[in-house]
Parts: sequence; structure tokens; C-alpha cells
Amino acid sequence: MKISMLINGEQVQARNGATFERRNPLDGKVATVAPAATPEDAVAAVNAAAEAFRSWSRTGPGERRALLMNAARTLEAKAEQFTAAMALETGAPANWADFNVHLAAGLFLEAAALTTQIGGEVIPSDVPGALAMAVRQPAGVVLGIAPWNAPVILAVRAIATPLACGNTVILKGSEICPATHNLIVEALQEAGFPNGVVNFVTNAPADAAGVVEAMIAQPAVTRVNFTGSTHVGRLIAATCAKHLKPVVLELGGKAPLVVLDDADVDAAVDAAAFGAFANSGQICMSTERIVVDEKIADEFVAKLGARAAALPLGDPRLGPVVLGSVVDMSTVERCNALIEDALAQGAKLLTGGKAASTLMPATLLDHVTPTMRIFREEAFGPVKGIVRVSGVEEAVACANDNDYGLAAAVFGRDLARAMEVAGRIQSGICHVNGPTVQDEAQMPFGGVKGSGIGRFGGKAGIDAFTELRWMTVQKTARQYPF
Ligand code: NAD
Repeated sequence: MKISMLINGEQVQARNGATFERRNPLDGKVATVAPAATPEDAVAAVNAAAEAFRSWSRTGPGERRALLMNAARTLEAKAEQFTAAMALETGAPANWADFNVHLAAGLFLEAAALTTQIGGEVIPSDVPGALAMAVRQPAGVVLGIAPWNAPVILAVRAIATPLACGNTVILKGSEICPATHNLIVEALQEAGFPNGVVNFVTNAPADAAGVVEAMIAQPAVTRVNFTGSTHVGRLIAATCAKHLKPVVLELGGKAPLVVLDDADVDAAVDAAAFGAFANSGQICMSTERIVVDEKIADEFVAKLGARAAALPLGDPRLGPVVLGSVVDMSTVERCNALIEDALAQGAKLLTGGKAASTLMPATLLDHVTPTMRIFREEAFGPVKGIVRVSGVEEAVACANDNDYGLAAAVFGRDLARAMEVAGRIQSGICHVNGPTVQDEAQMPFGGVKGSGIGRFGGKAGIDAFTELRWMTVQKTARQYPF
């Protein structure tokens, strides 16, 4: 399929005609041909957004709300196209595509609801006769950069609340799923957003840094948000620092699921299997480290191993599976290396093992220790480690012994103790007796440490994508000292 960019309401190719290809991870056939934008194309998108901002920023909440609600409908109407595009471009199974589309539609509805919640406050002033206010205003042009792994949710998240707040946007699509991201842009066009309010830019992988910096450098761009790896997040943070642009960064994770000695073992097994292997472990909130108290470890490990071994694996284009294809052979190579390193250092393979193709089985390694690479590095594939600990203190120390801090979970029947443990875990998100993988449009979503800066979701998103201004009105004659 050949797709276009969207600049000022027009479907365009790169001005120099350059394109790039995305190939299917299983058969290597071309899935998508997309425009390879130059920095000049990217600046044209910023200019279109800046022009559209003049009127869009003045629209009332009702107009923005109606369009965002339309977008929820036009997006859901494309559910089948999303399923096909995601299977083609990223190898994702249908259940993951469904979840993506419905949560993304929810993100548009939540953004629609936020349009009337962009409040300010009246602040008591010591100046006689002054009415002082903190007023939230649209920030300007927002650049949203989204990855491929939860492609519908994360691209919609990058632009929905910014639009609700009266900003215009540029979505920079992922090189890995340009057609999937393009479907979102088509849905927004069908919803009726005015020209220039939503713009879409795609680039060849080698051009990403130049295209992104060309946009960040433009004065009209006043906010940047990026979801992706911690490595690229740091590069983007540096570019934003250079140009003094505020940025929300949602980066990698290494989520611990802590199973305390009084946990409901079956419930913890269900959560671990889901959290570790949904979308083949290619989720920022994936359960990456299973930290289990040694008192119940044997029972837990036996049950989880059996569950993981039974998860259906196959080509997602041929029918429903839990584990489809991972995104690329680079994931296979990374995960194979993590398995080899762990086994060489004494870990025990519970189920699965090294893979020879992108159809990777659910793999669990028991007796993982802190010197093994899999203890620290994000696998971002269906290969997960189990660490056995003794007691609460060791469990908390193990959970926190990591550079990342996005999601976490704690299982325990004594809720007071489990809550206490959850409170001590260094992460932006923590669920007691629930899986690490959870997302709801209205929740503050984001991480600490190497997992990023700032929050998407609900009112936290309003704070991120508006400018807070101090304004006063002098109601009586002002007294001056001279
Ligand atoms: P990635 O960092 O490789 O790429 C993401 C985007 O960065 C792409 O659009 C790419 O064009 C752009 N990019 C690459 N190099 C660049 C550069 N030098 N300058 C500017 N832009 C550049 O991430 P990915 O592989 O697509 O996604 C996987 C990662 O994303 C994982 O680490 C995962 O944990 C993380 N992630 C985080 C969240 C979250 O909410 N915290 C959600 C999903 C994924």
C-alpha cells in the first residue's frame, strides 16, 4: 500500500518524491511505501499548523468536543483496516489491534470530555482592587512522535489532548507502521477537522533526527511529546533543551510484578501471563521481571510455566493467536542474546527458548540474578525472567534495583502490606493485585527514572499541553509609590 502525508489538509508526497518501505516481519514482502519527508517538508507541516492555530485556538469547547467525538466514531469504523495494517506492518495479533482501536477511541472521547475541564483559578491578590487569575491557554503547535508497538493508542495519545486544549498538531509517524498511523489521520480527516489542525509527516529511518530537529527548532512548536525508547528519548530531550522546548517523554520500562508470600497464586499467575506475553511482551508496561517470594515460588513457577507453554503462537494474518510475530529479527537477536547470557550464568529455562524466526515462543527463565543482562535490560519481546527473593525487604530492593520506573504490580492478600510495598516501589504506575499492563484514558500515565518525564492522560494532559498564565484586571484606581 502507498500512503501520503497530510499537510494543510492535502495529501502530499515528499517534495523530492523520496519514499521508504516497510516490510512484513514474517515474509519480508513490502507492506507499505511511505513518503520520506525532508526537513523542508516537515517545516511546511509546522507552518500549516501555525497558520491553523490562529483560528483553532479560538474555537469554543463545543466545536472541539464534537470533532473529537466524531473522531472516536470514524476511528472505530476502521477497526478491520487497523487489524489488517497492524498484522502487515508489525505482525501484531487481532486481539492487540482490537484493544488498540477501542482504547484509542476512548482517548478521543476522554479528550472530548476534557474540552470543558480546562479550568483556571482566581488567586487572592494583595493589590487593592485587583482580580488575579491563573488562566490556561492553548500552547501552540504540538509535535507528537509515536512508536509502533501500541500504534493506535500511542499516536492518538500524542495528539488527542493537545487538540482538545486548542493546539494544532503534527503527528510524526513511526517508520515501522506508517500505514497504521495514516489510518488515524484519515479518521481525523473524515471527522471534519479543519485544514492544518492535524498534520502528518513520515520519514525514512535514517532521516529521523534531521526531520525531528527541523520541527523542534521552529518557534511555532511550543510543546513536544515523544513515546519510544529511552535512548532516543534522551536525544530528543537534548534537542528540546537546545531549543528550550518543554517535552513529555514516555520511554522504556522493566516492570516488576512482585508476588508476596501471601499472594493468591492463581491470580498472580493470570496477571503475570497476561502482563508478560500480551503483544509478545512488546509493551512499555510489559511484566519484565517477576519477583516472587521463595516461600511460594515453586508453586507459582510451575503454574506460570504451564500457562506460558500453552499460549497459542502463529502468523496473525491466518487467525487468532496470543503471540503473533514480533516486529523484526532484531528483537529475536536481542532476546536470544538475553537467553544465552542468563543460561550461561546459571538461570533455568522453564519454557520456550531461543527462536529462529519472528514467531517467538513465550519464554521464561527462572533463578535470574542481578548480574544477568535480562535482570536490567528491557527485553521488549516474549522473554521474561523470574527472580526469587526472601521477604518484603528483598522484594522491594529487587523491584527498585533498575534504571527504569514505569509500571509495577504487587500481589498479596494482606492489602495493607501490599499497599505499603506498592508505595515503596519507584515507578509512575503501580497496581495492587492487578497486572502491570493496564491503560485507561483518564489516568495519569507516565514514569520516573529512565522511563521518562511528565504525564499523559486526563487532567495531567491538560497541564502538559496548555500554557498557564497569570492575568490580572485592575478594578479600582491603582496606587503607585511614585
Ligand atoms: P524508538 O525510540 O526506536 O523510536 C521511536 C521514534 O523515534 C520513531 O518515530 C523514530 O523516528 C524516532 N527517532 C529515532 N531516532 C531518532 C533520533 N535520533 N532523533 C529523533 N527521533 C528519532 O522506539 P520504538 O522501538 O519505536 O519503540 C519501542 C520503545 O518504546 C520501547 O523502549 C518501549 O518501552 C517504549 N515505549 C514506551 C511507552 C511509554 O508510554 N512509556 C509506550 C510504548 C513504547
